[in-house]
Amino acid sequence: MDAMRHEPKDATPVTCAHQASCASALPFQDTQDFRDVERGFVASLPEVEIKNAEGRIVWSLRDYAFLSAETGPATVNPSLWRQARLNMSNGLFQVTDRVYQVRGFDISNMTIIEGRRGIIVIDPLISTETARAALELYSSHRGKRPVTAVIYSHSHVDHYGGVRGVIDESEVRAGNVMIVAPDRFLEEVTSENVLAGAAMLRRAQFQFGATLSKGPRGQIDAGLGKVTSRGTVTLIPPTLVIKQPLETLVIDGIEILFQLTPDSEAKAEMQMYYPGLKALNLAENATHNLHNVYPIRGAQVRDSLAWARYINEARDRYAPKVDVLFAQHHWPVWGNARVLDFLAKQRDCYKYLHDQTVRMMSHGLKAAEIAEQLALPASLEREWSLRGYYGTLSHNVKSIYQRYLGWYDANPANLNPHPPRERSLRTVAYMGGAAAIMTRARKDFEGGDYRWVADVMSQVVHAEPENQEARQLAADAYEQLGYQAESATWRNAYLLGAFELRNGTPALKVRAPVSADVINALSLPLFFDYLGVRLNGAKAAGKRSVSNWIFPELGESYVLNLENSVLSYVAGKRAADADTTITLGRQALTEIVMRQLTLSQAVEQGAAVIEGEAMKLNELFDLLDEFQLMFPVIEANTQQRT
Ligand SMILES: [Zn+2]
Repeated sequence: MDAMRHEPKDATPVTCAHQASCASALPFQDTQDFRDVERGFVASLPEVEIKNAEGRIVWSLRDYAFLSAETGPATVNPSLWRQARLNMSNGLFQVTDRVYQVRGFDISNMTIIEGRRGIIVIDPLISTETARAALELYSSHRGKRPVTAVIYSHSHVDHYGGVRGVIDESEVRAGNVMIVAPDRFLEEVTSENVLAGAAMLRRAQFQFGATLSKGPRGQIDAGLGKVTSRGTVTLIPPTLVIKQPLETLVIDGIEILFQLTPDSEAKAEMQMYYPGLKALNLAENATHNLHNVYPIRGAQVRDSLAWARYINEARDRYAPKVDVLFAQHHWPVWGNARVLDFLAKQRDCYKYLHDQTVRMMSHGLKAAEIAEQLALPASLEREWSLRGYYGTLSHNVKSIYQRYLGWYDANPANLNPHPPRERSLRTVAYMGGAAAIMTRARKDFEGGDYRWVADVMSQVVHAEPENQEARQLAADAYEQLGYQAESATWRNAYLLGAFELRNGTPALKVRAPVSADVINALSLPLFFDYLGVRLNGAKAAGKRSVSNWIFPELGESYVLNLENSVLSYVAGKRAADADTTITLGRQALTEIVMRQLTLSQAVEQGAAVIEGEAMKLNELFDLLDEFQLMFPVIEANTQQRT
């Protein structure tokens, strides 16, 4: 790759015209959100910049100073510019009596409720560093009070990762702090972050744009907040799990009605109503943007029908009695009439997308056709809180189709087409070669058909990844699409794509990071599932072994069987004919997986005892793949991975 960095370009006249038409189509005169986002402001830091123990910056708003301008340049969609400015609001805010939020210290909000004895912290952000800073900001203005409880509203990392920044685990063990979470919290944290974790981390770079430089030609926002913080991710397992659909608890003198909302914005999530405070917290199910029925980082598709129902139930049951509605992202909505109106529109947006997608699908339309044709009704379309800054109508519709019918559109031509590189090689040859395609593509670029140019040039890049001219033209098209996008996540994806086309995929040889706390929290069956997805099938061909895994402190034992290039296990058994038996503690297992300890070191240190053929276990570990954080996205992975 060229050693010189290729810089981003300016908006084209076509993009300028696109931005102007967006600006005239939306109600910019409605400035209620700008008043709400500052309402209750107590204080912030003079400069919101948070570092870790080594002095590395893990969170900073400094690089976003360019957003102080009321209107942005033509390289940013004006609607997204508006949202990016709203998300700059930062500091400690009073929501209502006893309820505070720290916003702008991470992508998510930390909510603090003042109880009788101390404070309840809802959602301790992503990183210990940002969570600690948020709590310090609160304490410096409201006094130092002990944390009596932590509530995780749901199973996404921006709602639990900073927990060790606000409490010490010894306080939890001593019974001084309770940790409350929705049903299946731990299972969902571990399954989402572990089995598919490596692929999602790299894909998340495209969604959040955390590695892009900030600026009007770079990352400006993530829709839900500025960006994800990059500090220390931790997890302390919950001590109290909400299991019933509706459950009431009094925590530190505060009455909380929990409403479980499984399979909504997260697999494990819950909304909360605080009757004594006349306040409703919808976690992440009703925020100031169209959310993701499917996030482009990749995930299982969420249930938009259930999502709408949960909002409706909360609206019906609790909203008539509240003065304020808030969530774990963005700013609150005050006033009963406004809360009811806001929730009705949120409900109807997710329900409309669901119902209309299924209706059109039942007429035989394919996902991409529905995404192209469907628009929100006029009564919802101009609502700022339903604009697609995070999710988009387009990719949400496609994922609703996918939830019901899967990836296949029923056209047999699409049953078994060639994979991207082989298909691109053939297409480019049929179209007369790369040069002929580019002559036409340049014309279409001039005409502003960036969508088609990106599509066709991606095929040329797949066919000829070393063709610099092709990469530059593809990058130019991605870039204009990014500039035009109202969605922050689409903008980030296009701009990171353009960056990697111009500068190459960074060849960082680092392992995809996993949090030791998360590995430690894995149930043993999930742990063995995790080993299974790391087994290299080709390398394991012809290998056979049976091993007993004994965990005396947990009273659990497993028989692990390797044959046919597959690892399978049976719980609660011990095989008499095992090649090897290993007896170890749960902590040692985590350390081995985290590569802090080798198997033989574990034995030397007495953390594990191996009987039988130790070689067989070493052989098994040698068959496990390591996953690198970085892999090619905008071009084919030509390395053999079988
Ligand atoms: Zn979140």
